[in-house]
Amino acid sequence: MRPANRMRAGSDRARRSVRIGKIMELTDIRELHREKDVYIGKEITVGGWVRNNRDSKNFGFLVINDGTFFEPLQVVYGDGLENFQEICKINVGAAVVIRGTIVATPEAKQAFEMQAAEVIVEGPSTADYPLQKKRHSFEYLRTISHLRARTNTFQAVFRVRSLIAYAIHTFFMERGFVYVHTPLITSSDCEGAGEMFRVTTLDPKNPPLTEEGEVDFRQDFFGKATNLTVSGQLEGELGAMALGKIYTFGPTFRAENSNTTRHLSEFWMIEPEAAFYDLDDNMDLAEDFLKYLIRYALDNCMDDLKFLSARQQEEEKNKKAEERSMELIEKLNFVLTHSFERVTYTEAIEILKNSKPNKNGKFQYPVDGWGVDLQSEHERYLVEKHFKKPVILTGYPKEIKAFYMKQNPDGKTVAAMDVLFPQIGEIIGGSQREENYDKLVARMNEVGISEESMSYYLDTRRFGSAVHSGFGLGFERLLLFVTGMGNIRDVIPFPRTPKNAEF
Ligand code: ATP
Ligand code: MN
Repeated sequence: MRPANRMRAGSDRARRSVRIGKIMELTDIRELHREKDVYIGKEITVGGWVRNNRDSKNFGFLVINDGTFFEPLQVVYGDGLENFQEICKINVGAAVVIRGTIVATPEAKQAFEMQAAEVIVEGPSTADYPLQKKRHSFEYLRTISHLRARTNTFQAVFRVRSLIAYAIHTFFMERGFVYVHTPLITSSDCEGAGEMFRVTTLDPKNPPLTEEGEVDFRQDFFGKATNLTVSGQLEGELGAMALGKIYTFGPTFRAENSNTTRHLSEFWMIEPEAAFYDLDDNMDLAEDFLKYLIRYALDNCMDDLKFLSARQQEEEKNKKAEERSMELIEKLNFVLTHSFERVTYTEAIEILKNSKPNKNGKFQYPVDGWGVDLQSEHERYLVEKHFKKPVILTGYPKEIKAFYMKQNPDGKTVAAMDVLFPQIGEIIGGSQREENYDKLVARMNEVGISEESMSYYLDTRRFGSAVHSGFGLGFERLLLFVTGMGNIRDVIPFPRTPKNAEF
């Protein structure tokens, strides 16, 4: 850099710090809205992004959002400001730092505005900024996920996401559960929860081969074939057999080609596992947990929930009356005030077999008898049409559930429990685990899982085995329910789905 340039850069920085003060002294726009009486008449500084800029001859309005609240701050600027011409030209999307006085505007739509004493353009924007004033579809916004968090809806969703993540930890900590970090890279491939992503450093064009012509994973990074985890449960069980009550909360990966509004290839799962818990304890824990999180959202995110509710109501105007869902906050309260219906799989099959949609051929997958796996359409029928509240289904046929589930005395069913929610279908899947060594090994042999590969897991049944239970809650499925968003891609900042790993 030439000396003259260096001097200019230096004096710019000095000018900013003298005139605006440190970034630390910025006031959150949310604070202004919460405590307006405190701020009227005060001079403060805000930093944010421009949502709109309207100017007339000798004054103009900037609308500023700083990510803390969906209501923006309106800023009035006049031609007395030395850079008035520059301010008039600020494009939507620019980053600005503004010092000014908050004044009450009782006659206007918003209760107060800021009269700018100084406007600094931190980072300009251009006229082709993709988020202009008009409403954009969620499909379009997904193509610009790097910018969509600058919209009100996504800010509300991600703030709710953050607060519920916090509440998950407080729920378990208050109950003495230990937060255990289970590995994301795993060498066990029999967790029974679907296809896995391979983790390898072998050269895909020229992998080492065994004498049989297979890829020789003994030469791979870990000396064996490894994958990304589909569940932390198996390691979670090991933790529960040492610490008593544990939970995991982390990323989970499934390489299944499910292009639905409820499946992601990378999602976050919460998995508690507790020693000396039977299936009833497990169901109580799941119900308490879901209600705690929903209550937490109602107590701590009401502004955002109201905003999301209004968004949903707007969207649903075009739907037929019978297809509209319950208003968001009413729906959340409804779940809080009703106990979940506990029903066996066998009872559910009877209900479904005799249901109108089944008889009229309205189900895509007809229910013709005991043993079939339930599809989301069946789960939602039970919840939305039949019981009209959340349902916990237990006692599934062992053939459609994982090998580790506790075998019931009938020899046909296992102590599984799925929690079904309106709009979502399955939100939690869990079970009491088979703690008996011989029964567990017998089941592994039946389904063809080698004892050798699972010897570490079987050790827990050899050394001090105990009744224990656990479940997995899909974090994004819960967020779909709490935010009223319709597509799971819109409740995680950067969704990964088949053929999509942008950003
Ligand atoms: P589904 O039948 O809905 O595909 P699953 O039976 O495969 O789910 P589990 O293995 O029981 O799911 O996982 C526990 C929980 O994790 C589920 O109840 C769900 O909330 C969540 N979950 C499972 N798969 C996904 C996915 N692909 N994307 C987001 N959440 C998921
Ligand atoms: Mn399941």
